[in-house]
Amino acid sequence: MEKHNKGIHHITVLSGDPQRNADFYVKSLGMRLVKKSVNQDDPSTYHLFYGNANGSPGSGITFFPWPMARQGKPGLGEAVKVAFAVPSNSIDFWVEHFGGSDIDFDGPYDWFGQQAIGFKDPDRLQLELVFDEKVDEMPGWTKGTVPPEYGIRGFKGTTLRLQEHGSTAEILKSVFEFEESGQKDNAWLYTTDAPIGGSVIIEEGEPKLSANGRGTVHHVAFRAKDDEELDNLREKVIEMGFNPSDIIERHWFHSVYFQTPGGVLFEIATDGPGYDVDEDPDKLGEKLVLPPWLESKREMIEKRLPEIKL
Ligand code: ZN
Repeated sequence: MEKHNKGIHHITVLSGDPQRNADFYVKSLGMRLVKKSVNQDDPSTYHLFYGNANGSPGSGITFFPWPMARQGKPGLGEAVKVAFAVPSNSIDFWVEHFGGSDIDFDGPYDWFGQQAIGFKDPDRLQLELVFDEKVDEMPGWTKGTVPPEYGIRGFKGTTLRLQEHGSTAEILKSVFEFEESGQKDNAWLYTTDAPIGGSVIIEEGEPKLSANGRGTVHHVAFRAKDDEELDNLREKVIEMGFNPSDIIERHWFHSVYFQTPGGVLFEIATDGPGYDVDEDPDKLGEKLVLPPWLESKREMIEKRLPEIKL
């Protein structure tokens, strides 16, 4: 049987203005808008998905943009950073690109043995680019604003800030097949062998004032191969004493959510059917896509959404 890559499937974040969000991820970071849809729990707002050339699992950062959302402040019990993997030879390009785009950044600094730079999106979500030889051979997206040889290949990983690392580490190891592979000061690194999305850092910290709002991560989703594995992982989560949701049909994947003891909302999502189930792979993200059960309300939904120009 072919081995299935374990790791992060997607990460979902609250943002402010959708146009500003799309401008940043598509124009400044050169990612591909792979799906333009609506928040299935509030179809009067968008759900925007950015990914790599194919929108493959491990590459999707998705946003619920609320133009009126207040500024969030990440605290304890949250994913506080999202890191993207870029080819190891792209440092000079990105430093110059950010300089030319007026994007402030820190670094390059050491990221568990690799080089990285840190910066923020317009809603102050903490982002990193990790210069990662693991993705050097992966093709980039050829139609983006960043030359394909330097572009974002997908996630490197995410950093969770928690009061203690042990209980969430246990979930990463027992359910999602991560292994502890590094420790530095108050931070532990867990990895899988997935080329993208294979890292989670848990950073222990003190409680501090936080607020939900734009720029904060809503949940982190991990990959399941198919429906059968989703079922099995859900059972495992129950055996560990947690209380997962039923399986939810998300149209592009099937999902289970559960609250972790450290405070971060985790999701398990199947690799398939994928973002090309309802769009030509060459035309992903060009049109507003609705799940079938909202199609009858398309006219009303489209009227209420602000236009996004790219
Ligand atoms: Zn999700």
